[in-house]
Amino acid sequence: MNTEHTLAIVKPDGVGKRLIGEVISRYEKEGLEIVALRMIKLSKREAKGFYAVHSDKHFFDSLTDFMSSGPVVVAVLAGENAISRNRQLMGATNPKEAAEGTIRRDFADGIEQNVVHGSDSPENAAIEINYFFPGIQLVHTS
Ligand code: ADP
Ligand code: MG
Repeated sequence: MNTEHTLAIVKPDGVGKRLIGEVISRYEKEGLEIVALRMIKLSKREAKGFYAVHSDKHFFDSLTDFMSSGPVVVAVLAGENAISRNRQLMGATNPKEAAEGTIRRDFADGIEQNVVHGSDSPENAAIEINYFFPGIQLVHTS
């Protein structure tokens, strides 16, 4: 068993397009367990803190403007290989390159406004979960 936790975000475009339910439903249908969930609006400063690993990228200012432009839903998903399974559900960063049936292929408008975030490694998952749910006791229902 390799039970993992991963941080997922429905980004402001996903919330604006009323995709919260659709996205959460895909996690549940995949068998990923939702063990924490909240809706928040990030400040520009919080968005910059979350995406600090990208601070040297040309898209950093635009990305953090976008991420602080409206509410987001942040969730912790748990399950066997949860990190890679969530990345599979999401699809490639650029929706034009995302596989059919993935969230980004189905709903994203472009490489920046791509509906969802998902942690890419156990190390980053731990950092990202702690960023939004500091000190959380993760509850399992199954
Ligand atoms: P992912 O979200 O697939 O892990 P990255 O970690 O590389 O992708 O990038 C973080 C986020 O930054 C992306 O989800 C997207 O919103 C944005 N982004 C990535 N690459 C670009 C780009 N070339 N132009 C604009 N925004 C980008
Ligand atoms: Mg990433």
